[in-house]
Amino acid sequence: MKIYERASAKINLSLDVLRKREDGYHEVEMVMTMVDLADRIEMQELPRDTIIISSQAGYIPLDEKNLAFQAARLIKDRYDVRKGVYIHLDKKIPVAAGLAGGSSDAAATLRGLNRLWGLGIPTEELQKLGGELGSDVPFCVTGGTALATGRGEILHPVDNPLQCWVILAKPPINVSTSEVYGKLNAAGINHHPDTKGVLEAIRHKRFDELCGSLGNVLEEVTLQLYPQVRQMKEVMERLGADGVLMSGSGPTVFGLVSKEAKVARIYNGLRGFCKDVYAVRMLP
Ligand code: ATP
Repeated sequence: MKIYERASAKINLSLDVLRKREDGYHEVEMVMTMVDLADRIEMQELPRDTIIISSQAGYIPLDEKNLAFQAARLIKDRYDVRKGVYIHLDKKIPVAAGLAGGSSDAAATLRGLNRLWGLGIPTEELQKLGGELGSDVPFCVTGGTALATGRGEILHPVDNPLQCWVILAKPPINVSTSEVYGKLNAAGINHHPDTKGVLEAIRHKRFDELCGSLGNVLEEVTLQLYPQVRQMKEVMERLGADGVLMSGSGPTVFGLVSKEAKVARIYNGLRGFCKDVYAVRMLP
């Protein structure tokens, strides 16, 4: 039997760090939402008790370092499944981009294998398993829009923001999430994002307020390290995006746009000097 899952990319409408915890993790407060850019994951049962990963993308690990592999091994071990699986990752989400591509693949693998092997694992349990693989994985299990607290694994679902266009542009650099968090001085943050404002704007369906409340505390670090990201933000603003922010630890910058008429102009303007540009919708 063969099944398919979509693994969508996420963006952060708000990303705040409250403090560094004793266990080394950062206590965060983030509003995350999914966009219509997704990897397609194929899972097929194998007669042998083994996990095989393949992908058309040449630049991701295909061994136990791959998050989809780790998800498959975790579910097999925890539920004592003595079956094998072949997983093909058709990557569309750029890698190490701040769009949670790996986390979303892991979450989709958990959902898919739960189906393929008829395990009947409830969603909350899948999210708990996901939390063992990475802080963004629990959110990716369900998607939608959520306020995430703790180290990102405590989820409070919120309404989806107003439908709008999201233009994503990834400067040609790879950013390490752990390096960015490592360089953040959590105790010395002067400007915390207006997470409440983001939530209020979503609740009242006020697009302009949402654009005005966007904030990401990690920009402080990444923009300093990589001037290309600051430049990308400036270009996106100049081209007329309504709200512009870096997603996650970067380097992808996204622009929210309400009017379809503006989308092509911004997209084409960015394509002039950046290869990785996408115009997508927020996922309902
Ligand atoms: P996040 O926003 O959650 O920090 P990201 O979008 O910045 O994630 P990913 O695309 O998840 O970053 O990739 C981070 C690292 O994980 C890369 O160095 C990559 O080699 C590794 N990786 C492991 N499995 C995968 C996968 N299935 N897809 C993409 N990258 C993977």
